[in-house]
Amino acid sequence: MSLVTLKEVMEPKDEAFAVGAFSTYDLSSALGIVEGAEAVNLPVIAMMGAPVLNVPGNEKVAETLISLAKMSSVPVVVHLDHAKDFATCMKAIKLGFSSVMIDGSTLSLEENIAVTNKVTEAAKAVGVSVEAELGALAGIEDGEEVKAQKMTNPEHMKTFLEATDVDGLAVSIGNAHGLYKGEPNLNFELLEKLNDLSDVPLIMHGGTGLTQEQFAKGIQLGIKKINIGTEIKKTTIETFIETHGKNESAWDMIGIPKACREAISKVVADKLKFYRSGWKELV
Ligand SMILES: [Zn+2]
Repeated sequence: MSLVTLKEVMEPKDEAFAVGAFSTYDLSSALGIVEGAEAVNLPVIAMMGAPVLNVPGNEKVAETLISLAKMSSVPVVVHLDHAKDFATCMKAIKLGFSSVMIDGSTLSLEENIAVTNKVTEAAKAVGVSVEAELGALAGIEDGEEVKAQKMTNPEHMKTFLEATDVDGLAVSIGNAHGLYKGEPNLNFELLEKLNDLSDVPLIMHGGTGLTQEQFAKGIQLGIKKINIGTEIKKTTIETFIETHGKNESAWDMIGIPKACREAISKVVADKLKFYRSGWKELV
């Protein structure tokens, strides 16, 4: 159907459903994600992390992703994930991304508000959505380790939302990037409180490794966007190794990327269906 904004796919706020946001790295993952969404006829968010976009030459991958979105039979958001600076957001907007995340979560509340407003003013002028983050996540965030996990403070969130004009807010409720060490422990009481206080949709990063029950509870309590990064990487590399292992002398550059793309597509299709409505069977 088309390239759409993040704001559009997360509406309306009072309806309980979520949209999956999946990380792209190359053509194979971009195709797998769009094809997975098309298979179940649901909107999808295809993300590119700021460190991925900033690899020289990867503007071409971003441009390809944007044209895939425009040609797709379903609504596709092309979203910049975890930009820490204004310049990377502008680079993405110039390339044609329909949504950007400015992550000022490691800054002070005042500095986070300031950088978020700078990006929002520019993005809104050209119809691009903005996601911000408040509270820090544990785990590896695109190569940067966030040491102490700081959950989102409801008072800070009120102040932040009053001072900004974002379309969605990533919160920290015990979720973590990368793979969880042990059973993930999410604070749903805090999530409920945050959602009651927020007039914008809430977003959960660190989706890889959460249980179906945890996703269901999160969606019921207002989560509208769920980020999946590690599972895309893991699926790709495991499928690559397994497929190559079946016939190592073939050096199969047709079959292996195809298998990776199909495996990603399956993960995406299953998650999109579950986040839209499948979760209701578990609550
Ligand atoms: Zn994240």
